[in-house]
Amino acid sequence: MDISIIPIFDDNYVFHILTEDGLSVVIDPGDAQPVIDFLNRHELPLHIILHTHHHWDHIDGDPLLQEKYGCEIWGPEHEILRILHMNVFLENEQEYTLGTDSFKVIHTPGHTRGHIALYFEKHQVLFSGDTLFSLGCGRLFEGTPTQMWDSLKKIRALPDQTQIYCAHEYTLDNARFWKSIEPENPKLSKTIEDILEKRKKNISTTPTTIAFEKDRNPFLRADDPQLAYALKKDGQTPEEIFAYIRKLKDNF
Ligand SMILES: [Zn+2]
Repeated sequence: MDISIIPIFDDNYVFHILTEDGLSVVIDPGDAQPVIDFLNRHELPLHIILHTHHHWDHIDGDPLLQEKYGCEIWGPEHEILRILHMNVFLENEQEYTLGTDSFKVIHTPGHTRGHIALYFEKHQVLFSGDTLFSLGCGRLFEGTPTQMWDSLKKIRALPDQTQIYCAHEYTLDNARFWKSIEPENPKLSKTIEDILEKRKKNISTTPTTIAFEKDRNPFLRADDPQLAYALKKDGQTPEEIFAYIRKLKDNF
């Protein structure tokens, strides 16, 4: 399975998947033209659009792409009223075949109620949409902090080497936030240096890995005593700590 990154707008990523048997798939095409340009450049058709959630910057490319390629649209069953013209309604915790590959739907509510992440177990790849970002997580538009924390714990339980493809390039801003709440973390300065180096060369910080995020991402570490200590929140529950840092980040 080949994965390519198609940058759109200021900081969104659309992902293209080509399975071994030639099935051509895009995830969350918020804009059609960059996807069409990519497909033309590689002389590829488009068979399926996959969606993690209903926000405009993830679905607005659908009408043009469906008209041009006659592709199917697959998306979360709970967002059936928010994503038009869906052919397949992806059910939580179910497995779906995609040519020679398959993926499991992981329900990750918080950013939106029906949000899903797509897990390709054989390849150890996760498309996390706007739930998990490198060093960050999505805003809580339709969910509670506890829901989001539970969603992030589901993702954190995947194998360490899992590659995570996040739908936005927010990593540098997230790192600056991390610095503001845990300035003494020994991994901080090298991590920021590496991000700056990549971004200077216009290299994406996606994919990241579970191992990298578990060690650093404050939103995956709401139950880490070291973070609680840095925040002077010893004794608080992970849910309280998560809610606290999510609120700080909203106003950062
Ligand atoms: Zn979103």
